[in-house]
Amino acid sequence: MKKNTPISTQFFNRQNGLLNVAEISPATRSLGPGLRSVLWVQGCPFHCEGCIAKDWTLLKENKLMTVDEVVGKLLSNPNVTGITFSGGEPMLQAKGLLEVALSAKEQRALNIICFTGYELKHLLNRPPNKWVAELLQTIDVLIDGQYIRNLNDNKGLRGSSNQKVHFFTDRLKNFDFEKHIRTNEIQILDGQALLIGVPPKQMLLAFESAIANLDSFPSRLVDHERA
Ligand code: SF4
Repeated sequence: MKKNTPISTQFFNRQNGLLNVAEISPATRSLGPGLRSVLWVQGCPFHCEGCIAKDWTLLKENKLMTVDEVVGKLLSNPNVTGITFSGGEPMLQAKGLLEVALSAKEQRALNIICFTGYELKHLLNRPPNKWVAELLQTIDVLIDGQYIRNLNDNKGLRGSSNQKVHFFTDRLKNFDFEKHIRTNEIQILDGQALLIGVPPKQMLLAFESAIANLDSFPSRLVDHERA
């Protein structure tokens, strides 16, 4: 496994109450129990081989949104009973996510699931910023650790078997995060198709192969145009 890469949080902290958002889905059934909204944050310090969200790992500004704007979208569907934080790396924006979690929970009884590339022991002993500890207190289930392609056992709501499911409360104890059959949804958001959920292994392989072919596509196109 790659070591956790240290990163300056300056980039994320200077945004004065704004979150750097990759995407938001107001409702899905593919990232945890019940109907959930999902917030994917922009930027991740890790470089997991096989990551399917490479565009969202870039440490750059994407959609800057206020806490109120984010919460408004996350709660826009009245039937949503939970929120999932993913990314990107949520812990890099712990301050903003803490405010989102507190504000959303004030408005509705919700459970929160959070994915992170950091291992829990790292977050407890050497958190990347001072808001991580408080954010962890708002979370019901944390799924931790980087994605390791060779350990993808095609099971559950974690990408690979090294990733551990930590129950901080009993709220979601009845959901089998380890063996849950993976499902995916394709949603059209802001004119873009978004694949939601932890993809089954075969789909991942097909996706990676499609991306690899894309790399050679422009040169084939140029050759064709020259012919
Ligand atoms: S931690 Fe997640 S978002 Fe970051 S590189 Fe790994 S798989 Fe991608």
